Amino acid sequence: MDKMIFYSTNLSAPEVSFEDALLGGIAPDKGLYMPRRMPHIGIDEIIGMRGMSYAQVAFAVLRKVLCPGVDSGSLRRICEDAYDFEVPVERVSGEDYIMRLDRGPTASFKDFAARLMARLVQYFTGKQKRDIMILTATSGDTGSAVAQAFFGLENIRVVVLFPKDEVSERQRKQMTTLGGNVTCVSVSGTFDDCQAMVKEAFCDDGLSGLNLSSANSINIGRLIPQMVYYFYGYSRVADKGEEVVFSVPSGNFGDLMGGLLAREMGLPVARFVAAVNENDEFVKFVETGSYSKIVPSRNCVSNAMNVGHPSNLSRLVALYGGQMDETGRILKMPRMDDIREDIFAVSVSDEETRDVIKRVYDEFKVVLEPHGACGWWGVERFREGFGDKGKVVCIETAHPAKFPDEIVKAIGVDVEVPLSISRVEGMNEKMDALGVDYSGFREFLLKRFL
Ligand SMILES: *Cc1c(COP(=O)(O)O)cnc(C)c1O
Repeated sequence: MDKMIFYSTNLSAPEVSFEDALLGGIAPDKGLYMPRRMPHIGIDEIIGMRGMSYAQVAFAVLRKVLCPGVDSGSLRRICEDAYDFEVPVERVSGEDYIMRLDRGPTASFKDFAARLMARLVQYFTGKQKRDIMILTATSGDTGSAVAQAFFGLENIRVVVLFPKDEVSERQRKQMTTLGGNVTCVSVSGTFDDCQAMVKEAFCDDGLSGLNLSSANSINIGRLIPQMVYYFYGYSRVADKGEEVVFSVPSGNFGDLMGGLLAREMGLPVARFVAAVNENDEFVKFVETGSYSKIVPSRNCVSNAMNVGHPSNLSRLVALYGGQMDETGRILKMPRMDDIREDIFAVSVSDEETRDVIKRVYDEFKVVLEPHGACGWWGVERFREGFGDKGKVVCIETAHPAKFPDEIVKAIGVDVEVPLSISRVEGMNEKMDALGVDYSGFREFLLKRFL
């Protein structure tokens, strides 16, 4: 096997190995790294995954992409260590399924990417014998998944910035109760303010001694692991060679990109349903072929999907032969007809989201949370438009217990709180508080860590 090569979506940076793409985060021309060509997995091998654990499926898929850059014995251990929790695929009715990606330590699907990425970062920094600092801004789920995933790993520091008033108490406690190599900073501003401070730090030569790296979904190391659950879900529901539809609740489109790359590797996917909330810039783009971002993004109950300009869109455009720069400007149109053929995009209002939670519970006694409910609404629209043929797997991206108020309001029952969430409830929190000015943040980093 040859090593995989990654190019920048802005097309003016050198091509790099996975190791460099992972540790570098963003390309020097501000583009995002994309694989030049995906390796192939044959249908017999995919069907063979039926009897495998999630960790084994992960190894079978990732081996093709990451070896020999990562030696295969280490990769096998990394997969086993990262994926020690269950991944339920449940039949809801007829040929409609949900795949619950909410059983990791922070109860969102972001654990899948963060846990593998953390171990790969440690693998490479260990080989290079260097220290790095992962700096990340979060609106809730990313920060807690990343902080948990990197917690306790040697030679790696994690600094998470979160907006003081936009993160739920449960989300906050999953970060602030860790301590050790994890530093949490509560910022008296919005998520956009946090993001801006992080971006400025990455461009600040005065901080080069900290070896900053990113763990946001711009990092290709977050995308590659997200191919795996499409193979896993497929192997659990499909007959040999049968094409399956996946419905994906989407914000920054990292989740969907994982699916599109899995399809590039040969996974038989008939179509993806991309379900967004009222931030419908992608739906409009697919309909009209012209793109404009939504500023500021609209605040919806599926809050992890409140994205007015999805960071992975430039990757999606690149996959279909086009080019979009980091500001969202399209320099070359992608093949829109192919995008329309492969992706059915729908936008879901808050009212519809709440309505789905109630209906699915009443009808099937299945509890969805707001993000998965958007995905389910997409499944219903897909059935309406394309008929009953074929299996659909709807991805549930978070645990309902992360949204207790919405669930109680919609269906009147309390959901059971998993140990991953209740565990941190009574624990002590540790965090630093900062304003939104960059100079204060810069001084904080220099004083504390250099
Ligand atoms: C991050 C997140 C999403 C959106 O995923 P993207 O990869 O950004 O499209 C959906 N649901 C939940 C619960 C999330 O945390």
